Amino acid sequence: MGLTKKLFWEDMYTKEFTAKVISAEGNQVVLDQTAFNPHGGGLVGDTGWIGEAKVVDTVKGPADSIVHVFEAPTSLTAGAQVMGKLDWDRRHRIMRMHTSAHLLSAIFNNKTGALITGNQIEPDKSRIDFSLEDFDRERMLTYCSEANEAISKNPPVKTYFMKREEAMKIPGITKLATAAPPDVQELRIVEIEGYDTQADGGVHVKDLGEIVKIEPLKFENKGKSNRRLYFTIP
Ligand SMILES: [Zn+2]
Repeated sequence: MGLTKKLFWEDMYTKEFTAKVISAEGNQVVLDQTAFNPHGGGLVGDTGWIGEAKVVDTVKGPADSIVHVFEAPTSLTAGAQVMGKLDWDRRHRIMRMHTSAHLLSAIFNNKTGALITGNQIEPDKSRIDFSLEDFDRERMLTYCSEANEAISKNPPVKTYFMKREEAMKIPGITKLATAAPPDVQELRIVEIEGYDTQADGGVHVKDLGEIVKIEPLKFENKGKSNRRLYFTIP
């Protein structure tokens, strides 16, 4: 158990919550529990409000704590009870973008064997980097169309925990070229039913149809075997 309980792992649709301040220093506040997802894994950190104060970013802190970065120095003190509220419009776009990235990664990986060398998930525009020798725009566009077909079928997206040794037997459980899943006993699994099973700590939608549509914006050639896809959602 980390210092901050991750309410977004229990329910990724939690928009408001109450919590107790564990520490408050300058513009950084740690709570005993939070629905704010921290920056990491290619995702930007959540924003919103704690009490009346604007939270401009959320980052990982020491001892598995989650740090809320306020716009201005806080007057909160340890022990105080607070109300937290996410900027939900922004967060829901991040969930849709992130699930889109998983789906695209699964289809590209399945069709070409490409691994993911990087990604940046943001509310307005996201990108994925693939290790892929081939650079055929038409073919890559057909993969995006396949992703949209999957979205129209609206399969559920499930999250659950699995023992590490069991999870590591699932083919494609990690499509990241660089990193194996963190060295923990239980892995959090995100499964797009029928399409993809990944070890992942981030926030996702519960039904693929919530994405509505993936709109590829641009393919870039980033060197010998690195391809970059920019995409957005409506
Ligand atoms: Zn992810």
